[in-house]
Amino acid sequence: RGETPVPPVRQPRLTVLSGPSGVGKSTVVAHLRKVHPEVWLSVSATTRKPRPGERHGVQYFFVEDEEFDKLIANGELLEWAEFAGHRYGTPRKAVMDRLEAGEPVLLEIDLQGARQVRESLEEASLVFLAPPSWDELVRRLTGRGTEAPEVIERRLAAAKVELAAEPEFDLTLVNTSVEAVSRELLALMLHRSGDGSTS
Ligand code: 5GP
Repeated sequence: RGETPVPPVRQPRLTVLSGPSGVGKSTVVAHLRKVHPEVWLSVSATTRKPRPGERHGVQYFFVEDEEFDKLIANGELLEWAEFAGHRYGTPRKAVMDRLEAGEPVLLEIDLQGARQVRESLEEASLVFLAPPSWDELVRRLTGRGTEAPEVIERRLAAAKVELAAEPEFDLTLVNTSVEAVSRELLALMLHRSGDGSTS
């Protein structure tokens, strides 16, 4: 019948979870990984010091400024950004290896990083995690109790700017429940049809 072969749909395998600091990105990701340990999450490098309970190579690769300089100079970061006085970046190689193997990749990064990923990997799916309300975000940022007041102030200022970026994203998930958001995120990562119906 002379059918033309249908080219395989290109699955966007890279999902970027971003949003204001304190919105609960890392909680969502931690929950997702607990329920689905097979989900691969990129571990970022950062120049900030570990918080209590954080371990090198698990939450972050904690590095000195000089080492971060080298990562940038050697082109080893897919993206990087300065956030609240510290630098954070995604190691390029691990991500590219996974993508080349056709495996889904999840990045949990700030807005500036999300923009850079969009520039370099157009097929990336950008997800904005939004707080249920501004008051709730303030409560969460203040309630962590691990940061100095001036650090919280800086983070609130950054969060205001970041909230305004929502329209740049492919999709918004409102963080009303960690379980619900993790489920939606996983569905996105694994079952995106590539026809844009999720945006
Ligand atoms: P925290 O210090 O609370 O762990 O993270 C602060 C901010 O840095 C969060 O918004 C987090 O998503 C972001 N972040 C973590 N890793 C990266 C990264 O590799 N690149 C970028 N651009 N942001 C990151």
